[in-house]
Amino acid sequence: MSIDLEELAADILGRRISRQEASRRFVDLSSAEKNLLMSRLKGKLPATERGARSDVGNNVRLTCVDERQLDEQHLRFIRSLAERYAKFAPKSKENALKHQDYLVDARKIANLKKPIKQLQFHITYDRAEGPYLYDIDGNRYIDITGDNGVNIFGGRPDFIGKAIAKRIERGYPLVGYTEELFEAARLFCELTGHERVAFTQSGTEAVMWAVRLARAATQRAKIVIFEGSYHGMSDTVAASKDHEGKSVSAGLGIPQEYAEQLIVLDYGNMAHLDVIENLAGEIAGVLVEPVQASQPHIQPREFLRELRALTQARGMLLIFDEMITGFRACPRGAQGHFGVKADIATYGKIPGGGMPTGMIAGAARYMDLIDGGKWQFEDDSMPKLKRIYIGGTHTRNPLKLAASLEALTEIKKRCPGQLECRTCSCFQKDLSARTRGMAERLNAFFQERQVPVRVDYFSSLFKFRFLDSPYGVVRELFLVLLRMQRVETSVSGNFFLTAAHDDTHVDSIVEAVKDSIDSLLKAGFFVPADPVEVAAEDELAQETFSPAGDHVQSRLKIRAGEREVEKLKALIKSDWQRFQEGAH
Ligand code: PMP
Repeated sequence: MSIDLEELAADILGRRISRQEASRRFVDLSSAEKNLLMSRLKGKLPATERGARSDVGNNVRLTCVDERQLDEQHLRFIRSLAERYAKFAPKSKENALKHQDYLVDARKIANLKKPIKQLQFHITYDRAEGPYLYDIDGNRYIDITGDNGVNIFGGRPDFIGKAIAKRIERGYPLVGYTEELFEAARLFCELTGHERVAFTQSGTEAVMWAVRLARAATQRAKIVIFEGSYHGMSDTVAASKDHEGKSVSAGLGIPQEYAEQLIVLDYGNMAHLDVIENLAGEIAGVLVEPVQASQPHIQPREFLRELRALTQARGMLLIFDEMITGFRACPRGAQGHFGVKADIATYGKIPGGGMPTGMIAGAARYMDLIDGGKWQFEDDSMPKLKRIYIGGTHTRNPLKLAASLEALTEIKKRCPGQLECRTCSCFQKDLSARTRGMAERLNAFFQERQVPVRVDYFSSLFKFRFLDSPYGVVRELFLVLLRMQRVETSVSGNFFLTAAHDDTHVDSIVEAVKDSIDSLLKAGFFVPADPVEVAAEDELAQETFSPAGDHVQSRLKIRAGEREVEKLKALIKSDWQRFQEGAH
């Protein structure tokens, strides 16, 4: 062993070396040495170090208290908060349980935690107006739910409401065509740069049809997806991978046979491009959420470019799922942002103008597989025969098309000049800058307080990442406190600024976040962290603070760091399991 790990462990525990130095030395160790050091530190860490209550402002890296570590003081805080919360939103609280007999809704149990479940009821909304949401108890909130990324103009934009009302006056025939359909399709293609577009009833459906289209076009079956991506609710794309890299069904009711048609790889991992290359003959398409809503700090421009080249060379379709990114960074979406053109792409949220819809768009040579392409009346032309079968009752619902057309028209109005993302002067650029400014202020605050929280962001999407406890009890309490500071979030964890927010709203959000974190600090929900995890996270944090951009190597290092920490945790867990098994 080239380094004395005993001595290093003693130096870290005795705080004889700085955190930076500990971090530097930790990062330089081999995986085996990291494991050994970890076990030395775990063995020697005095019990008092782990559970000590923290003082605000001291110079110790903090970690979130785990659900199992809650003590009487924490529980007192939770009880008192629950009392205040019940008075804050009494009608919403009543609704939370009252309708359980007949209303089925999985959202209400998302991330439900026993010790704080009385705080985790959802608010019943009364109305939405610009940057605000109002509940049935009369509270007004700054809305950062962004309606899961749909309403980029904020709540109840007048122009969209008027367009829908106008269509209601004339009725909404579902079967045939209306002018809104043609106009919305034309404008959609103009703004995105795609040749042809089809409307669907939801984003889930758009992705399902995109997969069917790729399989039809290539006569191959396998689809590549990436760990951390979300592509809607269909069985076709619902899989994750196990520790050996095999794809496994995403849950109860989804047959493993579906998962076996999927190859699940690490997003942004250049080495995984080899897997695609090696299996190219079986792969119909590579389905990408170009900036994953689950980890928006990963923005792998070079990886996407390589993927584009590889799919093109080996006859696979590159499919971008632009459900959240579409029209967000600019009208050309993530494709414009990264300078990578997909063969087909799926959309739904922003260009739907608030109504339930989806779109699948792309090159005519692929989209023609849906309707057979162009043909004429006066000659003997006919649509091509190789076609896939798609449809749906509300595919052409004129109410949603009126909303869509209006949203697209407004986007065009607010995006003067060229539609090339680099030179575009669209309103989304201002929105992205405002979001970045807010994230930087918040990250500086988190760093100053030494709390393990970061704001990750891409364009107007942002999220709070609790580094060591992504869905723990502290994060849930944080969201309740934010709500009581009148900032409304959503269980998805994806938050958005919209064109209705101005700098004063951003100031209020920043203040609410600061206040909520300080309350949690004061109540002892952050405790000093394990020194080894501090060392690993230091590396991670440094990278996270670098500006969003095309530093793919940095991004890959973040993933590598994260995986290292995960591997260490898994190792300890399996050691513990083996120890227990041996004990019986
Ligand atoms: N893909 C992505 C990337 C999404 O974010 C979503 C919805 N959040 C979907 C697909 C599914 O869209 P929908 O909810 O409209 O079915």
